[in-house]
Amino acid sequence: MVKPGAMVDLGTLRENLEAVRGRMAAAGARAGRKPGEVQLLTVSKTWPAAVLELAVQAGIESFGENRVQEMEEKAPVLPGHLEWHLIGPLQKNKVRRAMALAGTIHSVDSLELALRVDRIAGEEGRHPKVYWQVNVGDETTKAGFSEESLRGSVEDLMALRNQEVLGLMAIPPFVPDPEEARRFFVRLRELRDDLEQKTGRRLPGLSMGMSHDFEVAIEEGATVVRVGSALFGERG
Ligand SMILES: *Cc1c(COP(=O)(O)O)cnc(C)c1O
Repeated sequence: MVKPGAMVDLGTLRENLEAVRGRMAAAGARAGRKPGEVQLLTVSKTWPAAVLELAVQAGIESFGENRVQEMEEKAPVLPGHLEWHLIGPLQKNKVRRAMALAGTIHSVDSLELALRVDRIAGEEGRHPKVYWQVNVGDETTKAGFSEESLRGSVEDLMALRNQEVLGLMAIPPFVPDPEEARRFFVRLRELRDDLEQKTGRRLPGLSMGMSHDFEVAIEEGATVVRVGSALFGERG
């Protein structure tokens, strides 16, 4: 067994990538999804830039990070063409810095934050892609809109002009058996369908599924899965 935190080598990383892509394709096929419909977002949080460098050699061009500062440390020492996604909680005072690097923010978790992102995007001449994070397990420890607050805010959110809303994101409660996470993925998809109906606007993206449960998420409609440890190994 590989020690948590041990750096992966290029050969293993390529194998892991191939294995994850194979499992993604199989889950997609089971659910009758078109090939290529689901994007793999490589989650590189806590790993040093050298590990991301290997991933770049293996053909990866987008990375998900959960802290602005960590993204700021890694981005300058890596190739300039990479795409950065912020997947962790975004503090109000870091919006400008986050947006300077991350073209996509998966963690817009309140109307207040969305308004701030919109104002700063306008000031900076940016147009970030965003997902609205939903607390599908109603966990007090997790960020995100409650379903109710999202339904209540959706018209205001849709009126914002300086961001491109891709859809919804969730981190369901951890359950040992990924099958038990299915109902949370279903819940996010159904909420999306409801909001689309209510507003007449498209919310095509569902950012859901991690190493432990991405196959179930794909079966339930994920358009992007955020995968870290299945590629890089256990974080230290
Ligand atoms: C860490 C993290 C992931 C990836 O988790 P793994 O279990 O390593 O695949 C995905 N999404 C978010 C928001 C994360 O913080």
